[in-house]
Amino acid sequence: MLTKTKIYLSSPHMGGSERKFVEQAFDTNWIAPLGPNVNGFENDIENYLGENRHIAALSSGTASIHLALALLGVTRGDEVLCQSFTFSASANPILYLGATPVFIDSETDTWNISPELLEIAIKDRIEKNKKPKAIIAVHLYGMPYKADELNEIARKYEIPVIEDSAEALGSNYFNRPCGTLADMGILSFNGNKIITTSGGGALITKTKELKDEAVFLSTQARDEAPHYQHSTIGYNYRMSNVVAGIGRGQMEVLNDRVEARRKNYSFYEANLSGYKSINFLNEPSGYFSNRWLTCIETSSFEMREEIRLALLKEDIESRPLWKPMHTQPVFKKYLNFTNGVSENLFNKGLCLPSGSNLTQNDLERILDIISKTPYL
Ligand SMILES: *Cc1c(COP(=O)(O)O)cnc(C)c1O
Repeated sequence: MLTKTKIYLSSPHMGGSERKFVEQAFDTNWIAPLGPNVNGFENDIENYLGENRHIAALSSGTASIHLALALLGVTRGDEVLCQSFTFSASANPILYLGATPVFIDSETDTWNISPELLEIAIKDRIEKNKKPKAIIAVHLYGMPYKADELNEIARKYEIPVIEDSAEALGSNYFNRPCGTLADMGILSFNGNKIITTSGGGALITKTKELKDEAVFLSTQARDEAPHYQHSTIGYNYRMSNVVAGIGRGQMEVLNDRVEARRKNYSFYEANLSGYKSINFLNEPSGYFSNRWLTCIETSSFEMREEIRLALLKEDIESRPLWKPMHTQPVFKKYLNFTNGVSENLFNKGLCLPSGSNLTQNDLERILDIISKTPYL
């Protein structure tokens, strides 16, 4: 019998040098948290992003958002504006700090935070004496958000922006790398992201001082003293030297990974965009997406499910687009400013297998199944 292997949505893809860096950590006994791989990984990311940014390697993207909010002084009772169409990790840290999220819907050009709704929300909150403490915007699926429009609004009302670039390492916006477009940025190296350390993240700052403060907070906020002394609440969020070794190896192949994911997108687009009932998200001029996941918008919920279940039957993983935060049971009670865009995408959209390790054969298998679904 012919056995077909499972195709994942987005699985880890090692380059080769990861093992060397991890072995170095073992050989030199830099197993304990910090060490040369952490510094090396931070340097690699700094060099990759440029723009004079500073990197603090941390234990996850979620931890990075948590620290970014803490560094901005977000605290109990504050309000934070957050893109609704995202993964829950963008919003959870707001609650960790006892602050309150306010969710903002998307626009249709990039599927990211709508500058128009954002300004409406800001005006409303200021009118009610609840000026937001921060804005969290997300480059969803690797597509940059409308950074110029958003930054202009943020500047006008003097509200800092945190750029959730967890899905967008390798993307850029008018030749500026995602992660460097706002006051602070974050990255994720979780197992399904474009590169992975098996789990990890990074905070991107504009100054060395802010990076140092992040590192201080992430290592339990120990004051300068021979004994353990603390005058601030700390966190245990620093990346380990073993894990950072994987990251150094992955940075060597990041550009290849971007290329491979963009090729997946091109394959799907070339073969499926002829169907009137399937839409793709084009890059607006000046926008460059890493195409972390290739997403399609179908013409109905039924059609989306037809495709998803047909793939599942053949052991191929696909997934509906993110369920908007303002519709999540845990976040429903919070204020939101919506226009129906993200709910529509959630109902009709599907992420197709997009790993950089997919073979031509895999892609053709997937295409064959989609092309045969009766709804097309
Ligand atoms: C993955 C992800 C995160 C969280 O990153 P972790 O490293 O998994 O904690 C945050 N935001 C978005 C948009 C993500 O996709």
